[in-house]
Amino acid sequence: MTKVNLGIIGGGQLGSLLAVAAKKLKIKTTIFCDDIDAPAKNYCDEFIFGDYKDDKIIETFINKVDVVTYEFENIPFETLSEINSKKKVFPKPEINKIIQNRFFEKNFINELNIKTTDYKFIKNKSEIIENKTLIPGLLKTCTLGYDGKGQFKLNSVSDLNNLVIDFSKEYILEKFVDLKKEISVIITRFKKDSYEIYEPIENIHQDQILRTSKVPAMIDKKIKNTSEKWAAHISEKLDYIGTMCVEFFIDKKDNLYVNEIAPRVHNSGHLTINSHNISQFENHIRAVCSLEKLTTKKLFNAEMTNLIGDEILKYRDKKSKDNEFFFDYKKKDIKPMRKMGHVTKIIK
Ligand code: ADP
Ligand code: MG
Repeated sequence: MTKVNLGIIGGGQLGSLLAVAAKKLKIKTTIFCDDIDAPAKNYCDEFIFGDYKDDKIIETFINKVDVVTYEFENIPFETLSEINSKKKVFPKPEINKIIQNRFFEKNFINELNIKTTDYKFIKNKSEIIENKTLIPGLLKTCTLGYDGKGQFKLNSVSDLNNLVIDFSKEYILEKFVDLKKEISVIITRFKKDSYEIYEPIENIHQDQILRTSKVPAMIDKKIKNTSEKWAAHISEKLDYIGTMCVEFFIDKKDNLYVNEIAPRVHNSGHLTINSHNISQFENHIRAVCSLEKLTTKKLFNAEMTNLIGDEILKYRDKKSKDNEFFFDYKKKDIKPMRKMGHVTKIIK
């Protein structure tokens, strides 16, 4: 039997960890990435470098693979559609089209009667002033933002005087939530009403970047149940195949809001590699490659810490303890605010 060849678009740490999980399942990986130094080069079987809009490269990629997935949401819709016309892409491109735009994403969630923060579509400065009830708030680009990039904090309307905002881009203005906690729910959907769901993960962000994630999340039963129910409902409505993540805010009055959806494996789920019998990455590959769905169980409580910037150096030199698992993304350059690796501690 020839091995299944899984195409993965994007070669960052998520692509790397998907490739590692695929190897365990004896699935070949071909990664297509527009960064010649992509970290996933170190982990995949084959690497294709090129622009995501280059038809020739897209065709080469299509011809090599059996089925395709992706590790980030900002891939041109046309590229995913073109690939999907020849080889199946999971999750399907239409899902990505909604989620890669914060405005479409929030509209979609609200149409399901699931709460998000209050928000408005913004084209120019005067629309911000017209919607000043959303301030204190965050102005976020509709597309291409991650790790807090493309976001402006507005404490008052007068902050606008100190900011240079490029209004050739589209934005949403989102009301600031007085946060008690942030959690995420990771779910892998195989087909209709068939999924594995991980218990909520508690996340701490610093400067809008994920710092730590842990299970169990210290939340009450009602929030646990509602967050899981909403995540399952969203995945059903999207007709999603694979692993996705729903990020939630809990405010000081214990109101639950969906912050955003990630149509992919998620940084907060890295701990599942060590805390569960089946990781979010393995489940994703099982779902997109039509492998058997196995019951997913937690084996240990765990806490994951992202290693940001030069924090990685200390870990590269030291021997990990028995209950610590260090993963180096092997990124070419260390930069401040860049996620360079992570360490997961399991708690027995
Ligand atoms: P990204 O796509 O960069 O992950 P998010 O919208 O998830 O963007 O924002 C990153 C982080 O910034 C959130 O996890 C949260 O800590 C903080 N944040 C974003 N929006 C709000 C908000 N409306 N109220 C309070 N905190 C917010
Ligand atoms: Mg986020």
